[in-house]
Amino acid sequence: MVWRIGNGQNVRIKEDRWLRIKSNKAAISPLTSIQADTRVCSLINHELGMWKSDVVERLFLPHEASLILGIPLSFRMPPDDITWGLTPYGIFSTKSAYKMLVSLDNSGEVGSSSPDPQLKFWKSLWSLRVPNKVKHFAWRACNNALPTMVNLQQRHISTSDLCEQCTTEPEDTLHALWACSKLEEVWRTLSWTLPAAQASLSSFNALLDCFLQVKDDYRKEIFIIIAWTIWNRRNALKFGRPTIPVTNIIPRAGSLLQEFIAAQEVSNEPPSVTVSSQWHPPEFPYYKANFDTAVFKASASAGIGVIIRDSRGDAISALSVPTHLSTSVATMEALACQRRSSSPKKLGSDK
Ligand SMILES: [Zn+2]
Repeated sequence: MVWRIGNGQNVRIKEDRWLRIKSNKAAISPLTSIQADTRVCSLINHELGMWKSDVVERLFLPHEASLILGIPLSFRMPPDDITWGLTPYGIFSTKSAYKMLVSLDNSGEVGSSSPDPQLKFWKSLWSLRVPNKVKHFAWRACNNALPTMVNLQQRHISTSDLCEQCTTEPEDTLHALWACSKLEEVWRTLSWTLPAAQASLSSFNALLDCFLQVKDDYRKEIFIIIAWTIWNRRNALKFGRPTIPVTNIIPRAGSLLQEFIAAQEVSNEPPSVTVSSQWHPPEFPYYKANFDTAVFKASASAGIGVIIRDSRGDAISALSVPTHLSTSVATMEALACQRRSSSPKKLGSDK
């Protein structure tokens, strides 16, 4: 993450990342005459909307001075903004994040004795078993990039910053996803979120960081999916679209997570070996029964199908019934086989 300089008031020259240098670190010029808290705004001529080039060239090593003087400034002097430092325009992409994590893994930087807390944070978020769109949402939430009422007011799109759900407090990201009184019913249901509720955290980043420290992966994942569901519900309400009641947020998030994890498990399974064989009808006067099972992991259920055909290949009876998921496919096949042997009578066959 790199700061995009607006008016320079929020960014510390020495401590923060604001130069797009390859190591993604703060400035390396010695800067002995600058205090730790001195802001980038001291390098900007606000009247002209330009860098104080003489100051920059005096303080910084030549290559960093030239980098700084190459940063465009806006006459409007907007607030500084955090952007993604790995793409040219500061726009997040999953590809660039993946490349960064791979390169860090290869270099051994991640997992070292003193990993960068911010990298640890993103790596932890990235490893969650949630859809990419949910990770992207978390990234936007952490970077204050969601169109909350506070953000809309700051950009002069809305005249009010009040939350439209509770209508009592300004709606920033933390409020929209966590602190709004209308969400109490959601978060209070999950007793393990109580310590975070009592910690009076000041930003969504701090809150997410708190949950990423939780040992149980499922809790991290359900937290972020609930937040995502809350945000989608909030948008639906705002734009008059039908949505779910507050009481359904947790069940909806839970089933979304289970479905996603089940789908991942299925796609990670080695492909089954298919034996190609051609079906042949039985000789007259025999009948042939074929059976199979289907497993639906998401709903923890299964189905058994049986079909009985005569010597001409015509189906004379068929059976399809749902059943509970057994411990193994072999058990399921045995059940189907059992059904097969009992099916002619049940299905009204005359043989
Ligand atoms: Zn509210």
